[in-house]
Amino acid sequence: MSISLLVIYTGGTIGMVKDRETGALHPFNFENIYKMMPVLENFDYTIDGITLTPLIDSSNVSPAFWIKLAEVIEANYGNYDGFVVLHGTDTMAYSASMLSFMLENLNKPVIFTGSQLPMGVVRTDGRDNFINAIEIAAARVDDTPLVPEVAIYFENKLLRGNRTNKFNAENFNAFLSGNFPPLAEVGVYIKYNESVILKPNFRNLKVHTSLDTNIAILKLFPGISETVVNAVLNIEGLKGVILETYGAGNAPTDEWFIEALSDAINHGIIIYNVTQCKGGSVDMGKYETSVALEKIGLVGGYDITTESAAAKMMFLLGQGFPIDEVKQLLQTSLRGELNT
Ligand code: ASP
Repeated sequence: MSISLLVIYTGGTIGMVKDRETGALHPFNFENIYKMMPVLENFDYTIDGITLTPLIDSSNVSPAFWIKLAEVIEANYGNYDGFVVLHGTDTMAYSASMLSFMLENLNKPVIFTGSQLPMGVVRTDGRDNFINAIEIAAARVDDTPLVPEVAIYFENKLLRGNRTNKFNAENFNAFLSGNFPPLAEVGVYIKYNESVILKPNFRNLKVHTSLDTNIAILKLFPGISETVVNAVLNIEGLKGVILETYGAGNAPTDEWFIEALSDAINHGIIIYNVTQCKGGSVDMGKYETSVALEKIGLVGGYDITTESAAAKMMFLLGQGFPIDEVKQLLQTSLRGELNT
C-alpha cells in the first residue's frame, strides 16, 4: 500500500518565489509544486497539498490559526499517513509546541519545516528541508510511523517541536533544542534516535481547540521596576504568567517583588517559573534567591522552553481545569515537553 502524505502550506519564507518580471518575492502556488520540484516525483508516495488561506508570515500566527491547522489535520487524519506543515520560522517553535498539546493521542507524524531562504532562490535551504521532512513523515517500521509526534525538521536535524527555540535569524541552522536530543540526524543516512521518540499509543486522536490567551510573559532583567511588575500582574482577566527567571529559577529578593508575586498568587494567578537559559532546569530552593519563590507558591517549569510554557498554559487554561489541576499538569510532562 502506497504511503500518502498531506502537505499543509501556511506561508513563511519557504513558499516564496521570485516573480519573473519584477523580481519581487511572492508566495508560490502549491498546485505547481511538482513543476517547481520535479524531484518529488521520484518519491513512491502520494503527496497532496492544502493551502491555508490567507498565507501568512508566521509573525501573524494566532490562536485562530492554530485551531484552523489542528482542524485540517483532524479532518484529514484518517486519509493520510503523515503530515508536513510548511510554516514560517519566526514562530514555528510556538506553533509546533501548541499543536503538540492540541493533538492528543497523535499517532502519526506532523513535521513542521520552513527555510531561511525562499524556495525560489537558487541557494535555498527550503528544498532539502522539504524533501527530508517528507521522507521523515513517511518513515515507518512495519506499519507503524517512526515519528508519531509533532516535530521540527531543520538543517539536518529533527527536533521535538515543543523543545525548540528559533535561536538564529540568519543561519540555516536556526533551531535549538537545548534540553532534549535530536529525534533524528540527517546525513547520508537518516539516523533515528528511536529510544527518545514518543511511542504511539494507538488511541483515537482527540483534538482540543479551546485555548485561553489570558496569560503574560514577564522577563526579568536587573533594574526591572515595581511599576512594570505591577502593571503586568494587575492586567484585568489575567490567569497565568510565565516568569522568565535567571539561571536555575532565581529572582531578586526585594520585598516589593516577592509581595507583588505573592498578592497575584493569592488572587488566583498562576506564576510559572521558567528559566531564561537555553539549557538546564529550574530548581527552586537551590539558591537563596529562589527560596521565597517556592514558599509563596510559584509553579516550577523544570526545563520547559518559554515557547512551550506559553502554549501549555493557553492550552490548560482553555480546558477549564480547576487551578490546582492546572498547576499540577504544568509540572507534569504531557507530550515530552519537560523532564522533572
Ligand atoms: N518572517 C518569516 C516567517 O516567519 C521568516 C521565515 O519564514 O523564515 O514567516
